[in-house]
Amino acid sequence: MNNSIDDLATALAKLPGIGPRQAKRFVYFLLSRPGGERKQLADLVLALDKEVRQCGECMRFYNDRSGSICGYCGDSKRSDAELMLVEKDQDLAAIERAGTYKGRYFVLGGVLTLSGTGVIREKELVRAVEKRIKNGLKEIVLALSATSEGEHTVDRVRELLAPYRDQIKTSQLGRGLATGSELEYSDAETLRAALQNRKET
Ligand SMILES: [Zn+2]
Repeated sequence: MNNSIDDLATALAKLPGIGPRQAKRFVYFLLSRPGGERKQLADLVLALDKEVRQCGECMRFYNDRSGSICGYCGDSKRSDAELMLVEKDQDLAAIERAGTYKGRYFVLGGVLTLSGTGVIREKELVRAVEKRIKNGLKEIVLALSATSEGEHTVDRVRELLAPYRDQIKTSQLGRGLATGSELEYSDAETLRAALQNRKET
């Protein structure tokens, strides 16, 4: 027979930053709450499937299911000349909060670690770049966190972009970002400076 407590704890322990003991704590906390709250939580998780869509161009998740591409990709006022590569949706949101970047995006969906784990959307990236070159892409802005994983990921992205080197330049966020800092937690001012001081690489 299934053990619902253990099964839910195992599922929660897969969340980033959550260990098995913490996961168990969440389960017992949920059990201590009124049933309505558990149902609401379950419904909210299910609603992600019903209401959230993944953009076919930049791969970000967005809430509006009316079109097949997101608002940033569909916005004709944004520039097709720049494509910024970020690790995850939260990084894209941080760049948007900084408010100066008006080009397009691509979300890699992860980072590669030195030990060989981690995946990024390689096929989708190449497809997006090829398509965007036809639409006037001139520059790829590498906006990964200033961590060893971020740098390792940049190395792989450069390999993937090597065939297009003659058609597009690549640049990297400038020094405003301190070594080891994660994009998601950088303040808007720092990101604006890093973007302005981006260097061709
Ligand atoms: Zn999009």
